[in-house]
Amino acid sequence: MTKYVEVITSLPIDRTFQYAVPDNVEYSPEIGKRVHIPFRSTKRVGYIVKLENKPMVENPRPLIDVIDEEPIFTKELIDLAGWIKDNYFCSWGEALEAMIPGPLKHGKISMTTRVEEEALEVVPTEPHKPNREQKKVLDDIHKCLDEKRHEVFLLHGITGSGKTEIYLQAMENVLSKGKSGVILVPEISLTPQTVERFASRFGDKVAVFHSKMLQSAKFNEWKRIKDGEARVVVGPRSAIFSPLEDPGLFIVDEEPEPSYKQEDVPRYHARDVAIERARISNAPVILGSATPSLESYHKAMSGAYHLIELTQRISEKELPKVKLVDMRMEFDTRSGKTVVSSVMTDVLRKDLAKKQQALIFLNRRGFSTFVLCRKCGFVMKCPKCDSPMVFHKTKNELICHYCNVRMAPIEICPDCNGDYLMYKGTGTQKVETELKKIFPEARIERMDSDTMSKRGAHDKVLKKFTKHELDIIVGTQMIAKGLDFPKVTMVGVVSADANLNLPDFRSGERTFNLITQVAGRAGRSDLGGEVVVQTFTPEHYAIKWAAKHDFHSFYSEEVNARRELLFPPFVTLAKITLRSKKEENVIKSTERLAKLLKKKIPGINMIGPVPSPMEKLRGFYRWNIIVKGEDRETLVKKIKPAIKGFRKGPGVFMAVDIDPMTM
Ligand code: ADP
Ligand code: ZN
Repeated sequence: MTKYVEVITSLPIDRTFQYAVPDNVEYSPEIGKRVHIPFRSTKRVGYIVKLENKPMVENPRPLIDVIDEEPIFTKELIDLAGWIKDNYFCSWGEALEAMIPGPLKHGKISMTTRVEEEALEVVPTEPHKPNREQKKVLDDIHKCLDEKRHEVFLLHGITGSGKTEIYLQAMENVLSKGKSGVILVPEISLTPQTVERFASRFGDKVAVFHSKMLQSAKFNEWKRIKDGEARVVVGPRSAIFSPLEDPGLFIVDEEPEPSYKQEDVPRYHARDVAIERARISNAPVILGSATPSLESYHKAMSGAYHLIELTQRISEKELPKVKLVDMRMEFDTRSGKTVVSSVMTDVLRKDLAKKQQALIFLNRRGFSTFVLCRKCGFVMKCPKCDSPMVFHKTKNELICHYCNVRMAPIEICPDCNGDYLMYKGTGTQKVETELKKIFPEARIERMDSDTMSKRGAHDKVLKKFTKHELDIIVGTQMIAKGLDFPKVTMVGVVSADANLNLPDFRSGERTFNLITQVAGRAGRSDLGGEVVVQTFTPEHYAIKWAAKHDFHSFYSEEVNARRELLFPPFVTLAKITLRSKKEENVIKSTERLAKLLKKKIPGINMIGPVPSPMEKLRGFYRWNIIVKGEDRETLVKKIKPAIKGFRKGPGVFMAVDIDPMTM
């Protein structure tokens, strides 16, 4: 019997601890099992990562008990956690703990417990016969699966080209080999149809995760996977940690999606974790998108990834024509009163007359997005954040979209006491109101996180839309991805510029991706389709190429800019953020840190200290230092020792984000 174990904890400490195993433990110690340990003066949960027969320290303390009858982590997941530690600036234990549902972290639920939950109801579907392009792509993937090889496939397929069908058939092959697989999707609430298609093909072999799920339900699914009942896992980023015994395939749908990055410790990127897990498991991974990220496409161009392409829509229809509406001209001719341009109105009118449907997209909720004093220029901001207060008409409140602070609408300027306040800017509520005015007979609903907060609200609207009991949905990114409705022949983008003005090197890429995705909802059937994009900068390259459906031209223009300015994919970034409620403290602290980094890392390539683009958030002042390096691991290896022992100062917090998705 094992006499000693090495244990890690979820503390941010870079080491293991050794404990002795008493004779009377109920379960035998094994790698991947949880234990209760005495730690300083408290009792904690720890995870066994190594078994030993000799003590490494003198008289190690005995552990309290072994919690699990069966290990909860495979060796492969423990190794994966080690990789996360080396790549994303966290401890091994922090990475490991991110892999399990909440209740297991506290050492609570025993592995035999299971909560009963109602099953998903779906109509079963059969595989489609692949078209020529799909067949070619599938041949490549099947070959790799048969050879049990690790390979990264970058599936670049235009919207409606049958990517999801590829995922389904590749997964089917994996199941037939007795293996299992994971498909990552951006936030499930954004892609209900994709989830449904997996469930309808694989029935109760599918486990589904989403972020609004109760902890008990999460545990349930986790247990079904652990027991080998569920062999296809569909979920957001954390689903990459599913306890599959013999994973044979990993799929990342909409690979450039920012929601794959976790913003808290461990700050991992699920796409890159998927690639590493696939490597450890000797399995292929498919990254899919109509708009691959610059990083991934660059890797495909260099030959590191295997590029597979779908260039035709299943319907054999061309991609929908995109009309750009220059809102500067619209603004002039209609005395500034435009939310919905005359072009958009005309196209919508034609569409509705033909009894077809439309999606109208705007990535901002609320009614007016800021309150401005015409006399003194004052803009009402959140008292805790650097963000304008947004007027919500339905609730009749001003709301901060970052911290959710609410206040009554104001009529007098708090700065100059004048009554010249104007409610400006357009949110989804205003668009909905305008459209109802223009088309009083049309059946219109709004889909954003304000209307969709109730459980099931989402499904309800989409079902109504499917049955054509609705003509138009106005919505935020909730309607941008994955929706496949044959009768949608018109898509409108109310403001294409919303992302362009963000001080972030990815703002062009985000804009291109969003327009491409939203446009892709139109014309997916023989009915064809048309897209209207409103913008103040039709000449911007991201908008211009998106309107022409030209990923390659966008890519080459963008990649040249990145090369010149030295941004990813040509370097890897680390963002070090310091925050404090006292502005003075955070500035001083960041300056000291910058000096320290320069001293400890000779030749460091660094931007800053600079205030974060949103300097104040939830009452904290935030300053950044951006370090540029060759790759994640080298960055972590250099920065970790350099900042060891750095004294942040009173009330100052620090976060290190490798591969940050926001600046
Ligand atoms: P994407 O994921 O690239 O947007 P989908 O996989 O959703 O494309 O395919 C678009 C539509 O075409 C879906 O309704 C899907 O069911 C259908 N489809 C996909 N492949 C085929 C095929 N080989 N034959 C017929 N219909 C198909
Ligand atoms: Zn706020």
